[in-house]
Amino acid sequence: MKLIFEKSQPGRRGIGVPKPDLPVPEVPSELARKEAPRLPELAEPEVLRHFTELSTRNFGIDTGFYPLGSCTMKYNPRINERLVGLPGFAGLHPLVEDDAAQGALELEWRLQEILLEVTGLDAVSLQPAAGSQGELTGLMLFHAYFRDKGEDEQRRKIVIPDTAHGTNPASVTMSGYELTPVKTDARGNIDVEDLRGKVDEHTAGLMLTNPSTLGLFDENIEEIRDIFRSVDALMYYDGANLNAVCGISRPGDMGFDVVHINLHKTFSQPHGGGGPGGGPIAVRDILEPFLPVPVIVNDSGTFRLDYDRPKTIGKVRAFTGPFGVFVRSYAFMRSYGPGLREMSEVAVLNANYMLARLKNDYDLLYDRLCMHEFVLSARNLKKEHGVNALDVAKRLMDYGFHPPTVYFPLVVPEALMIEPTESEAKETLDAFCDAMLAIAREAADEPELVHDAPHSRPVKRLDEVRAAKEQIVRFRFEEHPAEQRAGDRELELQKGA
Ligand SMILES: *Cc1c(COP(=O)(O)O)cnc(C)c1O
Repeated sequence: MKLIFEKSQPGRRGIGVPKPDLPVPEVPSELARKEAPRLPELAEPEVLRHFTELSTRNFGIDTGFYPLGSCTMKYNPRINERLVGLPGFAGLHPLVEDDAAQGALELEWRLQEILLEVTGLDAVSLQPAAGSQGELTGLMLFHAYFRDKGEDEQRRKIVIPDTAHGTNPASVTMSGYELTPVKTDARGNIDVEDLRGKVDEHTAGLMLTNPSTLGLFDENIEEIRDIFRSVDALMYYDGANLNAVCGISRPGDMGFDVVHINLHKTFSQPHGGGGPGGGPIAVRDILEPFLPVPVIVNDSGTFRLDYDRPKTIGKVRAFTGPFGVFVRSYAFMRSYGPGLREMSEVAVLNANYMLARLKNDYDLLYDRLCMHEFVLSARNLKKEHGVNALDVAKRLMDYGFHPPTVYFPLVVPEALMIEPTESEAKETLDAFCDAMLAIAREAADEPELVHDAPHSRPVKRLDEVRAAKEQIVRFRFEEHPAEQRAGDRELELQKGA
């Protein structure tokens, strides 16, 4: 498919701008363009066809099953879009006075109340823009809390299991803490013996995803909590996997002091491709004084933004956070109502159903009931047929599915991390399992077929090393002199040449 720049024809136009009927002021020559902007020149139907065709080359949750583990690619109900588009929400100016934004502030406050209920904690900041920023904000709160107690110098270490998502160690390093990695035991839990030897009075806290990235709920969570409590350290809960436990168990009850909630995962937002996300944090009362400003306050039914927080860590994002994300997630939560628990139950049921269908044909390192996702290993296919996890993922595209997450978590060789979510019908889950089983058979009978996949996609197997090393991310006009000449001629015309 050609780029829009390659389709450009000199002088072709989608619209005609009428000649100005007022005098046009001279642009001072030092400010005037020396060169015409290199914009593609096309008629309106060509533009429409171009982008419509592009959209059909993209895979999304609206086109098919998207079991990308850890990312919770669930269906985004259309009612959410209707509500976020309401003029009072969509047209709201972020600098409007509180009394002119009561509806929006009330929505944010109500969203916070639901997050408190779901997490079992005491206060919320909606500001962080994503889970990763929630992590950084949470660790900044750790610093502020210990600084307030005069212990910040002494507490340097944050414990992280070896199954952690990459953002966890990145946040630890960015926030100025040191990393203490801890091992995973034979059942997929944190290795408690390893942990005991690593926690002391220099420990600031723990960062844990529970259920973990293996899709397993840590069976020793109370013992782990006691270890950290015994040295007065704090506990951070990476809430990316909250879709497994909503209405069933709460991070606050497990002993955690800070939780981030990935609104774009658990509470349904169109995401992927770096789109807008939301990573609010919920905290225990001991951390509330340090929360970012502004804080949304409810004075008996009147809502306002409170900036008067002497111990605040400051701002982590403009205004109160990504407002459109809040409207969608709030709508999503309210359409479930108290039935949010059912959302998690169905997500867990779907994952276990698929696990049961697949675990005889793919390796499973930790053979337990899973939560909302599970991690298979293609190491058996690699050993016996030379087909690896990447080959399986690419071949799934020929069957019309988005591949699962691969090669993560790092503790599982040839990992295939599958998360169906609660959105999918049994027929879809079965069709995906059938494809996975067919691929396992193909690996034995026709390994080349799997190895060279995908066969039916517009983009075939890429040279990933070359793609990473020789990045071409910009159209090079030098290689397309025709467009350049057209642009320059336009400029000459404007100049009246
Ligand atoms: C997605 C994810 C994160 C990071 O969240 P973002 O919202 O993508 O920044 C952190 N931890 C885990 C386990 C995740 O799956």
